[in-house]
Formats: sequence, C-alpha cells, structure tokens
Amino acid sequence: MSCLFCKIVEGAIPSTPIYEDALGYAFADLHPQAPVHVLIVPREHIPSMIDTDQSKQALLGHLLWAAAEIARNKGLSDGYRIVVNTGRDGGQTVDHLHLHLLGGREMSWPPG
Ligand code: 5GP
Ligand code: ZN
Repeated sequence: MSCLFCKIVEGAIPSTPIYEDALGYAFADLHPQAPVHVLIVPREHIPSMIDTDQSKQALLGHLLWAAAEIARNKGLSDGYRIVVNTGRDGGQTVDHLHLHLLGGREMSWPPG
C-alpha cells in the first residue's frame, strides 16, 4: 500500500499521536496552520468523501465526534474549525480521507 496516511496508521512512517481507537487515528499535522492542527483519519483506506456511501455513515460520525473530543481535550472552549478538503477542487493533497482540526487562533472566512 503506497498511501502515506495508511503508512502513518500502520506506524511505518512516524507521527505524533494525539488520539486513537478501533476506527480512527489522530496525529499532529507536519506543517501546522494553527497552534492546534490535528489530522483525524479512518484506519480503513478511503480516498475521499467522494468515495463514501451510506455504509460509511457511522464511521464519518465517529470521526467527527473524535475531532470534538480532541478539541475538548485540547481546551479549545472558544471554538475551532473542522475542515475536510475533498478532491481536486477541494484542495485535497493526500488521498486518504482526513479531517483537519484547527484551533488556538481566530479563523477567517471565506476560505481561499
Ligand atoms: P490536505 O491538503 O490533503 O487536506 O491535507 C494534507 C495534510 O497532510 C497537510 O496539512 C499536510 O501538512 C499534512 N501532511 C502531509 N504529509 C505529512 C506527513 O508525512 N506527516 C504528517 N503528520 N502530516 C503530513
Ligand atoms: Zn490510505
């Protein structure tokens, strides 16, 4: 499997772990865009949101919950942003579905 995030999930490529459970793994982004920048990925290889069907509903909900749980653990009580870049137009650069949890500073809108 040549997928970067699959290798990170397997431990073949080192990462800084933040949270893990049976369904997902969360680790620090290599190039943080905010004081808190965590990536939350399913252990299962799913390329992007484009590739999800109804069978992934519970998994997607779980990953969203995990992001909120990490934000609570990080003390982000003033808010944060969860981003899921999807496909070419969405600016996705790693083809293994992932949530970005960004926090610790005020975010602007609209995004680029
Ligand atoms: P995307 O642009 O696909 O939404 O997000 C990919 C993210 O993965 C980027 O924020 C990038 O900094 C991060 N990233 C890319 N390669 C690595 C890596 O080897 N390790 C870690 N921890 N993060 C990475
Ligand atoms: Zn993968």
